[in-house]
Amino acid sequence: TLPTIFMITPTYARATQKADLTRLCQTLMHVRNLHWIIIEDSDSETPLVTRFLKRCRVKSSQLNRKTSSKLQPPKVSAKGHKNRGAEQRNVGLDWLRENYKPGDVTGVVYFGDDDNTYDIQLFEEMRYTNKVSIWPVGLAGGLKAEGPICENGRVKKWHVGWSPGRKFPVDMAAFAVNLDIILTNSKARLNPFGPGGHLEPEFLSAITTVPELEAKADDCTKVYVWHTQTGRPSLRYEDKIPTLIETKK
Ligand code: UDP
Ligand code: MN
Repeated sequence: TLPTIFMITPTYARATQKADLTRLCQTLMHVRNLHWIIIEDSDSETPLVTRFLKRCRVKSSQLNRKTSSKLQPPKVSAKGHKNRGAEQRNVGLDWLRENYKPGDVTGVVYFGDDDNTYDIQLFEEMRYTNKVSIWPVGLAGGLKAEGPICENGRVKKWHVGWSPGRKFPVDMAAFAVNLDIILTNSKARLNPFGPGGHLEPEFLSAITTVPELEAKADDCTKVYVWHTQTGRPSLRYEDKIPTLIETKK
């Protein structure tokens, strides 16, 4: 049978949330055997996301975890902490551990943020992952594409600009992990309190080595996911002018 893709997506309330989630839902509708695990950055489920998931025709589970106060302004910069979504992704991993035992289902786990852009081919690339698969990510790390340079299915080098000293210098969207690895390795989790930009190397170091990474996307020559970031729209008139104006005769 077709392995199931468990996509773990943290999300938080903001003006563009519904738009981002709608675009993502309508991408995921084209992917077979996908289970979307949404973790809201909130103390409880929000009506917006509940209503959204009711209409989104993708199998989903709605979870929530408010980012701990230690990771919020003023303790960190006003833009917010660097490890955005880390605690929420851990909640997704724990949910998998609570709901599946090793061997229950054949599956793969992917961290997919709500504002990235996904080619549906990405999901077919990751679907058959023995341990950990890897591929380039567009518009990440200050490059048009950041990620591995591969040969015969193995990683030979890294094409990287930012912080090249990291053992696995990749974006969260650059890899997928076999479900059984998550279920059998309690170290497979993110450290929300670690230094920014080191979530991925720390997570991957705990579960794999560079030589065993499985190169996807045509030996890492294709880009099937982009680290796009949705701009913040201007809502400057929302509170300023009356919303209803009489039409002129
Ligand atoms: N996110 C979150 N809480 C926050 C900020 C972000 O849950 O306070 C989520 C966000 O919806 C996204 C992921 O965490 O799915 C990564 O955040 P963002 O896209 O802002 O990070 P960047 O693209 O800048 O790395
Ligand atoms: Mn993002």
